[in-house]
Amino acid sequence: MNYRIAQRALALTPSLTLAIDAKAKQMKADGIDVVGFGAGEPDFDTPQHIKDAAAKALAAGFTKYTPAAGIPELRQAIAEKHRRENGLEYKPSQIIVSCGGKHSCYNVIMATCQEGDEVVIPSPYWLSYPEMVKLAGATPVFIQTTDATEFKVTPEQLRAAITPRTRLFILNSPSNPTGTVYTPEEIKALGDVCVQHGVLIMSDEIYEHLVYDGAVHKSVASFSRAHYEHTIIVHGFAKAWSMTGWRLGWCAAPEPIAKAVDAIQSHSTSNPTSFAQKGAVAALTSPNDHLKEWLAEFDRRRRYAHARLNSMPGISCCNAKGAFYLFPNISKLGLKSVDFCAKLLEEQKVAAVPGIAFGSDDHIRISYATSMENIEKGLDRLEKFVRQLAK
Ligand SMILES: *Cc1c(COP(=O)(O)O)cnc(C)c1O
Repeated sequence: MNYRIAQRALALTPSLTLAIDAKAKQMKADGIDVVGFGAGEPDFDTPQHIKDAAAKALAAGFTKYTPAAGIPELRQAIAEKHRRENGLEYKPSQIIVSCGGKHSCYNVIMATCQEGDEVVIPSPYWLSYPEMVKLAGATPVFIQTTDATEFKVTPEQLRAAITPRTRLFILNSPSNPTGTVYTPEEIKALGDVCVQHGVLIMSDEIYEHLVYDGAVHKSVASFSRAHYEHTIIVHGFAKAWSMTGWRLGWCAAPEPIAKAVDAIQSHSTSNPTSFAQKGAVAALTSPNDHLKEWLAEFDRRRRYAHARLNSMPGISCCNAKGAFYLFPNISKLGLKSVDFCAKLLEEQKVAAVPGIAFGSDDHIRISYATSMENIEKGLDRLEKFVRQLAK
């Protein structure tokens, strides 16, 4: 039998992080004391009132299909969240709930991009964006950024990357993997360029609530009517409510795009899980009291890890005011990111993600969504490793 695999699947970049992740898991299973800096999810539990609401819905038999775009009360609650927190007016019909923020990104890209289109993506990037663009038949165009600008794209760089084929610009602030948060002025300036050139913006705001050091998140949609009309917000429950396993995200978009996303979803996944949506309603309709504690703890770890990394020979790590990642530069240590991480795991039993997975071979990604005890232990080991390399 010739299992001919479709070109679109063959064209995907296999996940480089998987090999290291699989190895780390195997080592753990073998009883080896591995410190994991790979986590892409908060280490806190989903708040109890959210779990209770889902459990109650489940017990009451809320277990059937819902409308593909989500239950009306959740779409309403999301619209109210955008009004309350972002000053943005969306009708519930402009909100489509999907099976995770990742699924929302995928649906939005499938609904807006096709063969011949270019999508501008700042690099380092969240690793799924370019693959989704390729699945849609479009071409990713990267803007390379460096530590020197805290991995921020300038309006000039964006303007230079735009061609008549450019359909979409992907903005992710706060950023995974760098933790960078653009200022409101910087966001507006990038939005201005897109408006001038008629380019849509997919603004992935999933880390909106996870900002430190007085950083302010402002949605690019909020600067003017034109900005709003050019923007599709992607968001989700995974990070600020620690609901990664629930698979719930959303997009907020101009009506024709929301309609197209709904149509795609209705023929692929249909609705996100019914009783999970009830939990999400509880998340949005009660105060985010849990966040204060989470943010204080993330910030404490962030400050500690940032200072420790910068004190290590050959490592420099720029300031990162959002999400729960640091993206230290390791280029002075003479190893590319994959070799660096493989050796670090082998010799010191520390798992970090090679930067090449996000478009930079000079960096590694450290997640501080793990206990302070783990962070101290892991950084002690990393320091030992780095001192040997620097010799
Ligand atoms: C975690 C994450 C998402 C969405 O994750 P889901 O689990 O699918 O909700 C989207 N964008 C970025 C940049 C992320 O880090």
